[in-house]
Parts: sequence; structure tokens; C-alpha cells
Amino acid sequence: MHVVSSTADLIALGQQYYLPVYRPREVILERGQGSRLWDRDGREYIDFAAGIAVCGLGHCDPDLVAALTEQAGKLWHTSNVFYSEPPLRLAEELVAASRFASRAFLCNSGAEANEAAIKLVRKWAAAQGRAPERRVIVTFRGSFHGRTLAAVTATAQPKYQEGYEPLPQGFRYVDFNDAAQLEAAMAPGDVAAVLLEPVQGEGGVMPAADGFLKNVRELCDRHGALLVLDEIQSGMGRTGTLFAHWQDGVVPDIVTLAKALGGGFPIGALLAGPKVAEVMQFGAHGTTFGGNPLAAAVARAALRKLSSPEIAANVAKQSAALRSALQEMGRDTGLFSEVRGRGLMMGAVLSEAHRGKAGEILNRAAERGLLLLQAGPDVLRFVPALNIGDEDIAEGLKRLRAAV
Ligand SMILES: *Cc1c(COP(=O)(O)O)cnc(C)c1O
Repeated sequence: MHVVSSTADLIALGQQYYLPVYRPREVILERGQGSRLWDRDGREYIDFAAGIAVCGLGHCDPDLVAALTEQAGKLWHTSNVFYSEPPLRLAEELVAASRFASRAFLCNSGAEANEAAIKLVRKWAAAQGRAPERRVIVTFRGSFHGRTLAAVTATAQPKYQEGYEPLPQGFRYVDFNDAAQLEAAMAPGDVAAVLLEPVQGEGGVMPAADGFLKNVRELCDRHGALLVLDEIQSGMGRTGTLFAHWQDGVVPDIVTLAKALGGGFPIGALLAGPKVAEVMQFGAHGTTFGGNPLAAAVARAALRKLSSPEIAANVAKQSAALRSALQEMGRDTGLFSEVRGRGLMMGAVLSEAHRGKAGEILNRAAERGLLLLQAGPDVLRFVPALNIGDEDIAEGLKRLRAAV
């Protein structure tokens, strides 16, 4: 071990010791408050990224800090061999908030929630006496469902799958927002579930078209398949309602959550509707850390705040402000061909002349004190905290204008 002094020295540690699967921006963040962050060299940033749509209440929300510190002095871990109160209450509150579920499974990440959903679908189909080849799960091109082997197979994007073959069997891909293709894919009668994001996140911030989820629900009903919604990014108030699918008027069979559920503390959840809630019995699935008391205590506080009318109102307000400013910026600069998304899950699509430059724009934005994400090489992704204020939105947009 050597003594580290400069930021460059610290970054060199990452370059030497991390498995090089990430390429972080060359700053070291040290402190956050609301939608502002500071690096260890004292530079301030406006945060339009919120981790990756994780810090739904910004950084160091006082109620989340209080929930975490209070629980930290009481009990950290019990495993699922014993009960503790925070996850019991969280499960009850998630089921009540969901308006459809009767049971919850708590885990630690999005991929783990989707892995549980895939296993639940298979177990449900098996319980119906369906042969393994009749337990197909349909997913959509451009989707993202996580990095475990099954979740990455559900993720219908070759770049995430290459080199990991042999992949698990029983997945079929169709184009997003194409009901006719989905109908054709379900025609053989071997589909057990359709899994999709109400708003595709990593795939370019692409919302389901009006009426598409209703179409999917109808096809699932006609073919005896389950509707599984991955609300890991779109859920927890991000699109203006606690769950994005409330805006589509459908009732799912399974919903997965993670990202903003813990406001920055790792936690995931699967919510199971009555059709599937009793399928997995003792020993069928499990996790050591899932339902961790610290995570559950924070998630309860996050759920309470993120489901409030104040947050919904702020998402609507800031979404409108962001959308109109980005549209105006697009008109003035010719940079964007489209601004799309719902609530505070928004994407600005780079125009033909600027294709592939999202990474470069992100670098320039960071240099000017704005943290932003991309969704592929051609889309700037805006997923700030849901309680971001007028001033931070305005200042962030000012810095973006300076950057572009
Ligand atoms: C981030 C994400 C995941 C994966 O979550 P992890 O916590 O990284 O495993 C899955 N689905 C969607 C829609 C996501 O945005």
C-alpha cells in the first residue's frame, strides 16, 4: 500500500485495481446535498444523473439519513432465517402502494429482482404442467434488464450478451412498440410471459406508445401468458406516478423495482400479483442479504416521500420546464432531433449531424459542472432527483447550454 495524495493518484488506483469494466469520469465525488455534488477538489456539480436514476430524493435527504442512522444503531442484519421489523413493514407498504400485488420478495439489486421474476415465471409455467420448451419469455429489442446471465439474456441487445454464450434458453425477442410482431411471436402458444419496461431506459429513453401496454396485456390474456413489468428505472415516481404503468391503464402480474427504491441504498423488490403469489413455496428461492433491515428502513422512508402528491407535482412541473428548455435548445442549436420520455425520465436524441457524440457532450458538461448520463451513443438522458428545485434545473440547463 502506498500513501495517496492527489486526485490523479486515486484515479490511478481504480485503473490499476478495478476490473476494468467501467470507465468513470475522472472526478472523485466526495459530498452531496440535494441535487448538488462536490468533488474532493472542491468543484461543484449540478446532478441531472442521480446515480443512474437512483437518488430519487437527491443526496443526503434528511429523512433518509435519519432512517438509516436510527436503524444503524439498532440492527443491521438478521438473514431471512429470522424476522426483523423494517422489511416486514416495507413488504406490507409496497403491496398496498402497488394496487395489484399480494406478496413481495425483497432482494438487493435490479438484476436480482428480474432474475427472481424470470424464475417465478418458469415455476408458474411448470406448475401448470407446461413442458420446458413451452415456457418462453418474450422481451423487446433495446430493452435492459440487468447483468446476471438470465437478465442479460432477457436484455435483447447483442452488445451485452456477446462472449457470454451459452445463454439460457427460452427467450424470444421482438421490436418494441410493435404489437403485430408480438402477436406473431405469441402465436405458437409456447409463451409463458412478456417482460418489458414501460419506458425503455438504457435503450434510449423510449416510452411505450399510447395503448401498447394495453395491447400487450390483451395478448398475454389471450395466450395465457403473464405480464411482467420491469419498473426498476421507471418506477418510484420517476415518470410522474409511483409506477409508470398506472398511466397505461394496465394491471401487471409481476413488477420489479430497484434503483430509486432505496434512494441510493442498494435494494430491489419483486411484487407478485394473485395469479403468481403462491407459486414459490418454502425453499424455492432465496437470498442472504435481501430484506436487509438498513435497506428496508431507508426504502420505507423513500417510499413514503416518493409516493406523496408533492413529489408528483414537482415531477410534473420540472418535467415541463426541462422539456420546453430542451426543445428550445434543440431549435436554437440543431443539436436534438427529438425530446422524449415521461416525467423526469427524459431523453434528448442527437440529430443526424451530431450522432455518436453523447459521450463527448457528457465530458464537456462535467467540465462545466453538470453531471449528465447518456442512453447509448445518440441520446442524452435526464434523470434528476424528483425533488429537484427550480433553481437547480435552471442552473443545470445554463451549464448544459455553455457545454454545447
Ligand atoms: C438498472 C436496470 C436494471 C438492472 O439493475 P441493477 O441494479 O444494475 O442490477 C434492470 N432493469 C432496468 C430497467 C434498469 O434500468
